[in-house]
Amino acid sequence: MNLIFLGAPGAGKGTHSALVSKHLNIPTISTGDLLRAAIKEGSALGKEAEGYMKRGDLVPDQLVIDLMRERIAKSDCKDGFILDGFPRTVAQAQALEDLGIGIDAVVNIDVEDEQIVKRMSGRRVCNGCAATYHTIYKPSRTGEACENCGLTLVIREDDKPETVSARLQVYHEKTAPLIAYYEAKGNLQTVRGREELEETTKAVFEALSL
Ligand code: AMP
Repeated sequence: MNLIFLGAPGAGKGTHSALVSKHLNIPTISTGDLLRAAIKEGSALGKEAEGYMKRGDLVPDQLVIDLMRERIAKSDCKDGFILDGFPRTVAQAQALEDLGIGIDAVVNIDVEDEQIVKRMSGRRVCNGCAATYHTIYKPSRTGEACENCGLTLVIREDDKPETVSARLQVYHEKTAPLIAYYEAKGNLQTVRGREELEETTKAVFEALSL
């Protein structure tokens, strides 16, 4: 099963792709995580991507398309995968099609902008394993530390309020057109992102008949 999670930043793509990933035993590929890892490593790709990410802008299509192509070719993707944060432009969706990669379902998690801004202010991440938490919706059971590796949780650089509005604008301009794109292909499932995480999770699993 090849799946895509669509939605604004902070809509819950990462949280739900991780849950579905565990359920189906297929990997989640997050371009955001791959790019952050490249920055941490100090690779040429990381150096090129860093400025765009700090500003809340999208990294150029060709860089993420190449990154994704290499990642999908790995053996752990042979039984399927979940894409979190890719495609983010129509050109990226077309590149995926050109690679001959079929998509079984696209889950669009729909959350209003106002709610997104509220959510992003509470998001915390682990710099070690990239696990994500939320001070209200998904607090770490160990307080300020990551449940998996014990590192202190931090606010992502691009989750700071001034960058969040830029990211939302980019989302509406460049990524939201993918809703109509996949709707036209007939495999889009829209789920309303709710206040309660469990309610959204239930709706996501229902939409995928899991
Ligand atoms: P995310 O972790 O998915 O919120 O992504 C964080 C940042 O990485 C985004 O704001 C973009 O700067 C960059 N990024 C992630 N995925 C993509 C993509 N598919 N296309 C372009 N830029 C991306």
